[in-house]
Amino acid sequence: MIEPRSFPVSLSVDEARSRIVEIATTHILATENVALEAAMGRVLAADVSAPIDVPGFVNSAMDGFAVRGEDLTAAAEKSLRLVGQIFAGGAMASEVLAGTCVRITTGAPLPHGADTVVMKENTRVDGEHIIIATGTAPGANVRPAGEDYQAGDLALRRRMRLTPAQIGVLASFGFVEVKVASRPRAVLFTTGDELVAPGKPLGFGQIYDSNRFSLGGLLQQHDVALLRHARLRDDPVELREALIRAGQDADIIVTSGGVSAGEADFLPRLLADIGEVYLWKVRMRPGMPFLFGRVGGALMFALPGNPVSGVVTFLALVKPALEAMSGAMPRGAALRARLRQAIHKRHARTEFQRALLECDADGTLWATALEKQGSGMLRGVAEADALIVLPETVSEFAVGQVVDVLPLPGWPA
Ligand code: AMP
Ligand code: MG
Repeated sequence: MIEPRSFPVSLSVDEARSRIVEIATTHILATENVALEAAMGRVLAADVSAPIDVPGFVNSAMDGFAVRGEDLTAAAEKSLRLVGQIFAGGAMASEVLAGTCVRITTGAPLPHGADTVVMKENTRVDGEHIIIATGTAPGANVRPAGEDYQAGDLALRRRMRLTPAQIGVLASFGFVEVKVASRPRAVLFTTGDELVAPGKPLGFGQIYDSNRFSLGGLLQQHDVALLRHARLRDDPVELREALIRAGQDADIIVTSGGVSAGEADFLPRLLADIGEVYLWKVRMRPGMPFLFGRVGGALMFALPGNPVSGVVTFLALVKPALEAMSGAMPRGAALRARLRQAIHKRHARTEFQRALLECDADGTLWATALEKQGSGMLRGVAEADALIVLPETVSEFAVGQVVDVLPLPGWPA
């Protein structure tokens, strides 16, 4: 035990999360310029205004014929003499004078004199003339300059995570790079004397180190740059050296294991010794022994070794910290679903259960809790779509009751 305690112990999930976010907000990441090719999912670090009109010129929205609107009559078809053509990216055509038209393709600049495009489907060719059917209003099928963005429009706001369409917008402005928050540099430690790298034979009492991959995957999915991973023994000297070194070059340290109350759980005491403990233990299930603090310049998230606990604490407590450090707006709206079955919760902690999601014909999202809920059973997470959140103060959940949902990576949210 660590005495005296200068940090809170056994917080609610909400208390722990707000304390973590508060501290993470004082560890804001630097910014950098990245090429658009590498900008997917990165957090925009500055507002972006349109430097030019998009589109930059009046152009055709259809393949057809550029005409003068005043030449069209509502009552009868009209014959116009074809005097030229203009294709997207091609040379300018001659002016459209009264009684004439120019063949045009989608995206081509409107020739002088024309203010209307008649779509090809409403025309037919008659020698050197084009017969225009009735029904095209003057001004139709023309895209004004700046219809999408006008120069000076605020186009993208800082703090958003760039989507493919937003990167497309940046490209449409002619930018080749964009200013984003740097990715947090992370060191991942999986700890435990029983751990063996996949590919090697298992000895007595040994297991494969799966957290290196499930936590490594979560880091990857949340835009974290993994500096290195190391598998550490339950040895205070080895742990101390590795953590101090990571505190010198990482923004965050994520550890798994060694954080509960067992004889080989050295991390809480060690962290108090070489750094600072901000909080320990959260009233959640699974994940209760979670420890949060700092070593050197790095925030340290010590996750319990149970494979499910690692995923749950990552999504509930590490992810909000990563978002705060990058300045990102929380991703997506909070998701909720109705329970398919009644649930009785026997403890006064927030429970994160593994569940399947399905949307019914009325658009209601339903959650079905899976059977395998043990914190050591990674199968439950592997087969689930989401975690459902059962608040600590509620013990009886009725069919149809609405609960919060944390989608798991891979669920098409
Ligand atoms: P601990 O938090 O160190 O007490 O570990 C709790 C449980 O999680 C034990 O059954 C460990 O064997 C298991 N465990 C710890 N680390 C890992 C890991 N990296 N991969 C898979 N299981 C682990
Ligand atoms: Mg252990």
